Amino acid sequence: MDADFQSDLFGFLHIDLNSFFASVEQQLHPEYRGQPTGVVPTLADTTCLIAASYEAKALGIKTGTRVLDARRLCPGIILVNGSHSQYAEYSHKIVAAVERVCPVAHTPSIDEMVCQLMGRERQPPNARRISLAIKQAIKDDVGETLRCSIGMAPNRYLAKIASDMQKPDGLIGLLPSQLPRSIAHLELRDLPGIGARTEARLNAKGIRTMPELLALDRAGMHNLFDSVWGDRMYHWLRGEDTGDDGAPVPSDVQKSLGHSHVLAPEHRSPEGAWSVAHKLLHKAAMRLRMEKFFAASLAVTIKYALSREQTALIPKAKKHLSGITQTGWGMEARFRPCQDTLSLLEALQGCWRQAPSAAEHAKPFFVGVTLRNLIPEAEMQTMLFEEPGNRNQLSATMDKLNLKYGHTTLHFAGMLPARDSAPTRIAFTQIPVQYGTEYM
Ligand SMILES: [Mg+2]
Repeated sequence: MDADFQSDLFGFLHIDLNSFFASVEQQLHPEYRGQPTGVVPTLADTTCLIAASYEAKALGIKTGTRVLDARRLCPGIILVNGSHSQYAEYSHKIVAAVERVCPVAHTPSIDEMVCQLMGRERQPPNARRISLAIKQAIKDDVGETLRCSIGMAPNRYLAKIASDMQKPDGLIGLLPSQLPRSIAHLELRDLPGIGARTEARLNAKGIRTMPELLALDRAGMHNLFDSVWGDRMYHWLRGEDTGDDGAPVPSDVQKSLGHSHVLAPEHRSPEGAWSVAHKLLHKAAMRLRMEKFFAASLAVTIKYALSREQTALIPKAKKHLSGITQTGWGMEARFRPCQDTLSLLEALQGCWRQAPSAAEHAKPFFVGVTLRNLIPEAEMQTMLFEEPGNRNQLSATMDKLNLKYGHTTLHFAGMLPARDSAPTRIAFTQIPVQYGTEYM
């Protein structure tokens, strides 16, 4: 394998259901299939469509079109009063179908799912096979009208962009070696996080096209956005991942494995958030072992919804894409590399005990659990099976691993407290909350 091929890997799949609400209606009502169909929140002429089938889209009708205009463009359009609970049920069925093929790491919205690829799955031919198998699983398990566009890319940001590049039933891969050239033909508004207001702001600063944006260096991007958001975007558009400070982290080695979840309204309490975090951890630990990795640190992120009064008191409050005004908290724990659920659970509990409990932290609505500092099992075994008497060789192996994965990865066992005294075995680090990924 040459170096270029080795680094031309995908990291994420972004699955976006096409015309989701309208497709569910066509699945439930075979007589709507092949017909221009619109979904409305109430059956009134003054309202707007919240979804349109592809047959309606072909006539120029789309989400946001007023019922009066839709009827003018297509007098025979079928209009259906949408049922959110039905769409939520279909969303769950789709997640279950996708998980027959690959675990779902994030569900950014009711009709979007993100899978994190690991190991051999990251090789483009395998990623493509997985994507096609996902499309087939949705068709077989949920219904033939439910089509999706899948984006394959080195990071989540580009995977979302790729999922939007071909509709319906698309499959687009953005290879690291072809970036950012392969996205240069897009409009600025095609980039997640650039809405009408941001676009106007960029235009005012002389940036109107993707080639103009891509011509900027990292400092130029920082100045353009006047925040670390610009630094992040600079690297994301080039296929790299970034830390919280916007600096790139190498993406040729698998570094982390994350799962996140937006809580259903009935789970928006500290107890509900814990039960979800617990489930996410089990899922991540299972995947860690399945893909043959050890983890040496665990990070937790919680986002809390703020009331209007609380928002007024917190000047830096941000808005989640769901419209919720939020504040966040995050923490990272480092520990001896492990892959068993019990040790990882201890680390999660240790973090959780330190979560804030003030009035503004009463309504958690988002939980993320990420296993970091991953070490391939094969490299761990090199160390574990080392001859016990040969300390030099052991140290050399440890140094090699520490150099490669960061200096906190491994220590001599004697430097660590006893295995069952979990609270001191785990070192905790407060980490800044990762804002800037709310659009995902
Ligand atoms: Mg969609």
